[in-house]
Amino acid sequence: MRPIRMVDLQQQYQKISSEIKEALSTIMENSTFIGGKPVDDFTNSFAKFHNAKHAIPCANGTDALQIAMMGLGLQPGDEVIAPSFTYVATTEVIALLHLQPVFVDVDPKTFCIYPEAIRKAITPKTKAIVPVHLYGHAAPMDEILEIARENNLFVIEDNAQATGCTYFSKDGIAHRTGTMGIVGCTSFFPSKNLGCYGDGGAMVTNDDSLADRLKMIANHGQKKRYYHELIGCNSRLDAMQAAILSIKLPLLDGYIESRRQAADYYDKGFSGNPKITTPYRAPYCKHVFHQYTLVLEDVDRNGLADYLAKQQIPSMIYYPVPAHRQQMFAAFGGSKFNLPVTDWLTERVISLPMHTELDHEQQDFIINHVLKYVNGNK
Ligand SMILES: *Cc1c(COP(=O)(O)O)cnc(C)c1O
Repeated sequence: MRPIRMVDLQQQYQKISSEIKEALSTIMENSTFIGGKPVDDFTNSFAKFHNAKHAIPCANGTDALQIAMMGLGLQPGDEVIAPSFTYVATTEVIALLHLQPVFVDVDPKTFCIYPEAIRKAITPKTKAIVPVHLYGHAAPMDEILEIARENNLFVIEDNAQATGCTYFSKDGIAHRTGTMGIVGCTSFFPSKNLGCYGDGGAMVTNDDSLADRLKMIANHGQKKRYYHELIGCNSRLDAMQAAILSIKLPLLDGYIESRRQAADYYDKGFSGNPKITTPYRAPYCKHVFHQYTLVLEDVDRNGLADYLAKQQIPSMIYYPVPAHRQQMFAAFGGSKFNLPVTDWLTERVISLPMHTELDHEQQDFIINHVLKYVNGNK
């Protein structure tokens, strides 16, 4: 059996290595490392992939969120509603811009922000909602967009874990996640569903004037070189990363299919076990399984993780401390938020190896050992 990895990028690379080497070698020979055709080409195909008017590349997913909030003109003290059950970057940038993060609870089935909780959290200071399509499952966008419309709020989608996910809105139209809010933000961190070989990120939007501002902010607030209209930052996707992403983007739907098949196989293996809840799949979206995350009931989770590690099976807890309980948010009143579902999930979730290269032999091995421990037979 091949060694089991949480994410197997080596194996994935082997299948595209000659194309990648050729693309990188061309860039090195031309020595145009910043901007240029590779970046323009990827930007155009990424917008097209989303059926969106604009894509704006940047240095990473965290920057994408920050630039989006800057581009929307959010002001210090404005309140931004976001889940606490997410990677810290989502809410960190809110605080970084001197906005007030308002942490809300999630739905225990989808792991995504809970619309009723959003309604309760709205105040006259609320300016935006940041739904996170966590683990590759879309947040309930119809409800979120309706709340946003009623209350005149921006919706900034954190699509870092769900690039390529399809959402079917009530009117029957299929959308890629990241294209329904005013702006969608994603990350090309190597382990993400569409990952490059370093850091990278992007925003997508259908709003022309916002696209203009985002582009400027990512580039020191300038449109014309050395004429700076806005306070911005230096956030670029470099040419090598863009070239790698251009090779991988056409493969993304196939990568997603491999992840979905691996998820189906896990689901079958764990079905019927009363202590294990396998990932829910809402009919409104096509889960892209950035993570395959179980909810355990009545299982010593650390004991399971230790047992798996002894069998050379990696596992991860995403995330061991929810954002609102992180020390960094103490000054923002983080721990004052009462989020029972978030706390409940935080103690029970465990993510198993999930990537495009898993085979049945590996998955059988993982499933058998998880069941052995959970059923008390180890
Ligand atoms: C990865 C991730 C980010 C940040 O992306 P980086 O490229 O690492 O900066 C933001 N939000 C979520 C939900 C993520 O998973």
